[in-house]
Amino acid sequence: DRVERVPLIAGNWKMNLDHLQAIAHVQKLAWSLKDARHDYGSVEVAVFPPFTDLRSVQTLLAADKLALRLGAQDVSPQPVGARTGDVAAAFLAKLEVRYVIVGHSERRHGHGEDDGVVAAKAAAAVAAGMVPVICVGETADDLEAHGSAAIPHAQLEAALGGLPPEAEYVIAYEPVWAIGSGSPAAPEQAQEVASLLRARIGELRGEPEATATRVLYGGSVTSQNVAGFLKQPDIDGALVGGASIDADEFSRIVQFRK
Ligand code: PGA
Repeated sequence: DRVERVPLIAGNWKMNLDHLQAIAHVQKLAWSLKDARHDYGSVEVAVFPPFTDLRSVQTLLAADKLALRLGAQDVSPQPVGARTGDVAAAFLAKLEVRYVIVGHSERRHGHGEDDGVVAAKAAAAVAAGMVPVICVGETADDLEAHGSAAIPHAQLEAALGGLPPEAEYVIAYEPVWAIGSGSPAAPEQAQEVASLLRARIGELRGEPEATATRVLYGGSVTSQNVAGFLKQPDIDGALVGGASIDADEFSRIVQFRK
């Protein structure tokens, strides 16, 4: 049977757009999707602004009853307490944040976050009622040494190890060599890894969870190439970095079907 997984188009702004720019950007995006009569029930749209923007964007979404989802780019693995500079999952949940990116390669490689930290962050997000977007992906060196599947599999297993049964989460397959490079993976190759990841979820946590879980592709997604990924049977959306900073381009990506 074919289960309908609602595609998720997620815009990871990374360290771009301050809170004033964020308000202008979200207004522009919302108008553009409204003009296009975008149906949020058929494609879910989420934005992941920097922490300092979250309150402004949340207020805007609530005031204008906008159906955009709010995401955060990171979360503390620890509960509220003495963790200078960290942001607790409870604080994010209170801002109506639904999704939290964990395990992004810029945190794994730029901030030395290992699989244990990623698992703890995913668990903290779930415990606070949010949905972690767990990023996995191989570097160019990994690809040469181990092929495309081994590292993402190991990262997947580690991250899922900390999650309770019935947890909702999203997987983002992001080959590190494709991020910000302008050289996306071939859709068929991304499909192959996505299908292997889904199969592994089935082995680890059961078929119903494997069938229900959305697997996104990320890495140099644009309005020109998004449809090629979304038509793959195991790819249920996109995690978009650079192309999400331009509201018009992100709006075109969201409308990939048309
Ligand atoms: P990119 O980034 O779209 O700019 O390649 C994707 C990501 O890092 O999530």
